[in-house]
Amino acid sequence: MWKKDILLKTGIYLVTIITLYGYSMVEKSGYLMADTGGEQKYDGSMSDTTENVSKSDKNDILDSNTDDKNDENLKLEQNLETKKIAITFDDGPDDKYTEKLLDELKERNIKATFFVVGKNAAENKELILRMKNEGHLIGNHTYSHINLGSIANTKAIEEIAKTNEIIKEITGEETEYIRPPFGSYDKSYFKEKDMIVVMWDIDPRDWTIYDADKVAKDVISKAKDSQIILMHDIFETSIDAAVKIIDELTKQGYEFVTVEELLMD
Ligand SMILES: [Zn+2]
Repeated sequence: MWKKDILLKTGIYLVTIITLYGYSMVEKSGYLMADTGGEQKYDGSMSDTTENVSKSDKNDILDSNTDDKNDENLKLEQNLETKKIAITFDDGPDDKYTEKLLDELKERNIKATFFVVGKNAAENKELILRMKNEGHLIGNHTYSHINLGSIANTKAIEEIAKTNEIIKEITGEETEYIRPPFGSYDKSYFKEKDMIVVMWDIDPRDWTIYDADKVAKDVISKAKDSQIILMHDIFETSIDAAVKIIDELTKQGYEFVTVEELLMD
C-alpha cells in the first residue's frame, strides 16, 4: 500500500509541476515552448493557462502551433525513411531479466537481436522460442562464452556448432549470425561454417556501469543511422537502460530493426 501512496503523491506532484511550468511559459512569452517535445506535453494544459492571454496572442499561439506541428511531422516522416538502428543483447537468455526485456519490446513492437550463450539457451528454451515467435533475431555467442581467439580450433568449432544445434533444436532454424565473445576470433572458423560475424558500433559498457541513466545517455548521445548497439540482457540496469534508449530514439525517428535487416540494406 505504501508504494501506491508514494506513486499517487509523486503523480500529484508531477502534475502540479507540469501545470505550473506550463503556466509560467505562457505567462512569460505568450507562446508555448518552441521545442517540439515540450509543445506536445503542454497541449493539454493550454486551455487552463490561456485565460490571461489576449485574443490576438491566442491566435498567434495557435498559428505557431500548427506551423511547428507541420515541421515536426515532416521531420518525423523524413527520419522514419532513413534512420535505422539495431539493438543487440549478448550473454543471455537470463532467467531473471530476459523475460522482462521481451515484455518491454513486445509492448513497443520493437525487434531486437539476441546473441545467446548456448549453455543459457539450453536452460531457457522457452525464452529462445519466445524470441523467435516475437520476430527477434537469434545469433550465436558460443556455448560457454569462451574467448575463441585463445583456444584450439577444434574446441572453437565445437563451441560454435553446439550452440547452433541447440538453437536449431528449439526454433527449427539455422543460425547464420555470430558475435564472438570479447570480439575475439579467427576468421577461418566462420568461412567454413558460412556464418556472418557481427560486431558493434556503440558499447556503453553496461556490463560494468550499473546505472541505467548513464548507459542510456551514452547510447543516445552516440546514436547514428545504421549503427549497432551492444547491450547485455543479464543485468536489470541494462534492461531499464534499453527501455529508455528505445523510447528516446523512437521519438527521434529511429526505427529499430534486427541486425539482419540492417545488414541487408
Ligand atoms: Zn558476451
